[in-house]
Amino acid sequence: MSKAALFVFFGLAACGLVVSYFYFNRSEIREPLMDRARAKMVKTQIEARGIRDPLVLDAMRAVPRHQFMPPMQQGRAYDDGAASIGHGQTISQPYIVALMTELAAVGPEDIVFEVGTGSGYQAAVLGEIVKAVYTVEYVEALGLEAKARLAALGYDNIHVRIGDGYQGWPDHAPFDAILVTAGIDHVPQPLIDQLKPGGRIVIPVGPEGRTQELLVIEKNQDGSVQETRTIPVRFVPFLGPKAAD
Ligand code: SAH
Repeated sequence: MSKAALFVFFGLAACGLVVSYFYFNRSEIREPLMDRARAKMVKTQIEARGIRDPLVLDAMRAVPRHQFMPPMQQGRAYDDGAASIGHGQTISQPYIVALMTELAAVGPEDIVFEVGTGSGYQAAVLGEIVKAVYTVEYVEALGLEAKARLAALGYDNIHVRIGDGYQGWPDHAPFDAILVTAGIDHVPQPLIDQLKPGGRIVIPVGPEGRTQELLVIEKNQDGSVQETRTIPVRFVPFLGPKAAD
């Protein structure tokens, strides 16, 4: 092939790529593709692994996970894994979000607290089900981003604050359920104190830098707690002064 022919060939190929990028990125094209990918994700990653709570399955079908991810990552929003959201933090794997929500056993009248807003995705899944979600994020930039994103998506029952989730959110306690989405080597006492009797904490507990065990802590009517171990998980580390008490 002559040089000119090669030039024309690669020129056309590059134009084709640019045109198809913009074509598939138009929202009327992209959103139905994302909806289909999400429906498939719920079937193959969530239902297939045994999540049965219809409230959880509906919430997983409803929340547009791709809109919680940076633009360059959105094509992988319905893949079976965690993904980077910047600042060294991650949006959890869809299955883990569904599992934690099911383990929390939440319903429409519940008030829930989350430590580690991150992208806001887990909060949105909870927000689809419960009356109100209070969520705290340590990294200011992430918290502000998540707050704006959740407001733009219309989640007016989700309240985001920047701060150290170790201390809970006493003004809105006690909570029906508490989800901790960062790994820590113990269960923070303030969170046990801010849990209603009959409520549950779902939390990844394990030594720093290692795999954690996803625990469910249930509070009995007399205030005592009991612990159930579920599966090994790997969350980013809990930040802040009390993280390794
Ligand atoms: N739930 C998130 C996943 C978050 S990753 C989602 O659905 O996208 C864990 C998050 O916990 C990170 O954003 C991290 O900054 C935050 N975090 C870590 N320690 C924290 C603390 N002490 N208080 C509040 N947030 C904390």
